[in-house]
Amino acid sequence: MKDERRTTRYVCAFCTGAIPETSPDLRRVTIATLDGFPVQDLFAHRACVVRAVSPEIPLGEALDEEP
Ligand SMILES: [Zn+2]
Repeated sequence: MKDERRTTRYVCAFCTGAIPETSPDLRRVTIATLDGFPVQDLFAHRACVVRAVSPEIPLGEALDEEP
């Protein structure tokens, strides 16, 4: 019998590494104009986003490490 289970994988926009859907490190990065359209969603490792953001910019809860 064919296994119908399917695993969605995401590709990090910064390092192009695969990120399993179940990874606690998976983040969605939404890019939009100030008006909110057009909009594009990218996916990334939490650590890759943190590396790309200047240390002078405060990081919010979405970029906290998983406990
Ligand atoms: Zn990455």
